[in-house]
Amino acid sequence: MGKVSWSEDALKIFNQIPFFVRGKVRKKVEEWAQQQGLSVITPEALYRAKRELKDKAASAERGYAVEACFGRFGCSHAITNSRKLIEEIEKLLEEEKITEFLLDKTNGKLKHHNQFRIAISECPNACSRVHIADFGIIGVAQKGFDEALCNGCGACIAACPDNVIGLKDNKALFNDELCSHCIDCIKTCKTKALSAKKTGYRILIGGKLGRHPRLATPIAELATKDEVLRMLQRVIFLYKRYCKRGERLGKILSEHPHLLNELKAN
Ligand code: SF4
Ligand code: SF4
Ligand code: SF4
Repeated sequence: MGKVSWSEDALKIFNQIPFFVRGKVRKKVEEWAQQQGLSVITPEALYRAKRELKDKAASAERGYAVEACFGRFGCSHAITNSRKLIEEIEKLLEEEKITEFLLDKTNGKLKHHNQFRIAISECPNACSRVHIADFGIIGVAQKGFDEALCNGCGACIAACPDNVIGLKDNKALFNDELCSHCIDCIKTCKTKALSAKKTGYRILIGGKLGRHPRLATPIAELATKDEVLRMLQRVIFLYKRYCKRGERLGKILSEHPHLLNELKAN
């Protein structure tokens, strides 16, 4: 098959796609163009590809999807490296027979929007859309602060994306309630007054888009890999108990809010 090129206008449209999915989209569109015998991808071809690929994806083969950010491949913001965790999650989803479960609940008509979605981001920037996943996982750090080592240089103040650091008596002062637990301030501190005391995962559940969008609710902070897996197992247990027709976890949680307390309590 011949090489496919992109017209300037098609590239302009393509570059508006979020950066973290561009590689995947480019590959799929180019494969589609080759199958169609096209040598140039124009805006018209791009929209046709989008429509046809979307139709194909609408009939999901698997009952679950696991989406991870590019953090573990070298993003400077990454706090965690979840390669092993992702493998274990996929194993668990297979063992739990999510696909068979959803095929049964949907009378064999399992669609893309029925999938149980897991998203993993290696830092709070959340590029992999963890807030609209059924089960979202975010790499976070708990910072340690040794006031004696702080010289009040202010580098951490400039680095903080959340503007939650100030200075008092020439020492850094943190509003921990509003901190999202990244490592940006830690990376800039030359005196080592700041350090990552502990790293782990924030767990969020029940996010979704659709007719009634819902942002995922945080249920655990600084969880270890094993705690994430245990929590996922418990969430799947409840999901299977309450899911009647392939509805998303977010809908179930809206109808049975006590489940959130049950999960948070354990
Ligand atoms: S979520 Fe964080 S670690 Fe992952 S790609 Fe985005 S910025 Fe990088
Ligand atoms: S960067 Fe470090 S030394 Fe400078 S103000 Fe912040 S904590 Fe203190
Ligand atoms: S960890 Fe540091 S840089 Fe990140 S939000 Fe908290 S105070 Fe700001």
